[in-house]
Amino acid sequence: MEISEAQILIVDDDRMNREILFRHLINLGYTNISLADSGKTGLEIVDAQPIDLILLDMMMPVMNGLEMLVRLKSNQKSRVIPTIIISALDEKEMMLSSIQNGAEDYLIKPYDRFLLKTRVSACLEKKLLYDREALNKKKLEVAYEELALAYYQLEIVKNELDALSHRDGLTGISNRRYFDTVLEREWNAAKRERKNLSLILFDIDYFKKYNDTYGHLAGDDCLCQVAGTASQVVKRPRDTLARYGGEEFAVILPDTDALGASFCAEGIRDRIESLHIHHIASQIHPYVTVSVGVSSINPHLEVAISQQLIKEADLALYEAKREGRNCVKVWSNKGR
Ligand SMILES: [Mg+2]
Repeated sequence: MEISEAQILIVDDDRMNREILFRHLINLGYTNISLADSGKTGLEIVDAQPIDLILLDMMMPVMNGLEMLVRLKSNQKSRVIPTIIISALDEKEMMLSSIQNGAEDYLIKPYDRFLLKTRVSACLEKKLLYDREALNKKKLEVAYEELALAYYQLEIVKNELDALSHRDGLTGISNRRYFDTVLEREWNAAKRERKNLSLILFDIDYFKKYNDTYGHLAGDDCLCQVAGTASQVVKRPRDTLARYGGEEFAVILPDTDALGASFCAEGIRDRIESLHIHHIASQIHPYVTVSVGVSSINPHLEVAISQQLIKEADLALYEAKREGRNCVKVWSNKGR
């Protein structure tokens, strides 16, 4: 907005005074001028249209200039409009009161045209500056809001990507990479918390023969059913069921001893057998079964690394295979 385009309101009960002031302002180059003959009309105009400056007569009947000023300054929208008080020389008390109540400046009748010009343009420049700052502040607020929203959306996408990168594409349970991360984390936690950490490894008996007999699609379906069933047994929030390899699965059980882990392992074995998935090529059972190995270490008490837990669960699994499959073997401490 150019200063000459500013919206100026003259409030004066005297028609002659209004017209003189109006002509002065026209001569100074201002074109958007509204006139009000009372405080009430003035407030109505301020309410109805944007006003950049008010020239306000002090002495008016019903509502004088000071009363109108107080009303203007108590309103959130109109309090920012600069107001120049126009008064007679003998109204010093009221003039002082007006300044105290937020009037921007004053003119004493009969006023000098040069003074009028200077004060009007000074007030309008201030108002212009204020408007620009308010606009910038608003723009900044909008930009901040947009930025916050963008961050929020980015966070959602990031979380989704994180979750996807943790998941096995076929079965939907945790993948090997996530298993490695969790095992390291839980190993350190167990050491710190001086608690046991247990691991279950299990794989589907004669799975290659299952694939050869029923095809790879049926094989995939079998893997999904096994994963889904095991996830129903592994219920605690901190436990992690993962696909370890092709037909091999793993369960990390924090704060669990060998007995607790073997109980969980037996639950998995039993539930999978009870699925009654036909497996005519199995040499031990008419249905799909799993062999299960369990290991349990207290990292605080033993000098070991997390890989030890995997090695021992694997040895226990090997033992389960050797002892006829479809069973649970717990790695014993003997010989460690
Ligand atoms: Mg008057």
